[in-house]
Amino acid sequence: MHQDVKEILYTQEQLASRIRELGATISKDYANDSVVLVGVLKGAIVFFTDLARTIDNTVDVSFDFISCSSYGDGTTSTGVVRILKDLDRSVEGKHVLVVEDIVDTGTTLHYLLDNLKARGAKSVRLVALLNKPERRKMDVDVDYVGFTVPDYFVVGYGLDYAERYRQLPYIGILKESVYQ
Ligand code: 5GP
Ligand code: MG
Ligand code: MG
Repeated sequence: MHQDVKEILYTQEQLASRIRELGATISKDYANDSVVLVGVLKGAIVFFTDLARTIDNTVDVSFDFISCSSYGDGTTSTGVVRILKDLDRSVEGKHVLVVEDIVDTGTTLHYLLDNLKARGAKSVRLVALLNKPERRKMDVDVDYVGFTVPDYFVVGYGLDYAERYRQLPYIGILKESVYQ
């Protein structure tokens, strides 16, 4: 285990097994149809690539990516979201499945889901590996959830602290001493 990690919450095996279940459900829901998987950079990238490979051949899948920055912390409650890198292609008339690492306050996803719906997508759903409902400020419908987590700051499997720890193959709780 990495020396900055206090405890492993989900091992590589637990993640793989839950993601296979999500992939099976998503494959059923979109069977004989097409879907654009929209990955939210950068945190969702590891989950995205693993999830995509669990979707079966009954679904016509394409990939696109978006990058957002959410401005606002405890002191600025409005939480303005800005698109740093937009999708490459139009989603008008298409089924969109947004793939996100974690829904925390909900600020990013609340904005992003509305934004994609306003582009005329046929449907917009959300799959999040982790859901941290205790910290929610903005209402977000999470259609598919990997795991519901308590209010810990977690890293690994794409999730970072100051751009570090994304490469860890598990989800772990970061030691407080690292950010204090
Ligand atoms: P939200 O807009 O829902 O507050 O969260 C947006 C982003 O904050 C998430 O996509 C994620 O990148 C980051 N975030 C929220 N909670 C955690 C956490 O526990 N660990 C890490 N590494 N990032 C988090
Ligand atoms: Mg994210
Ligand atoms: Mg981050």
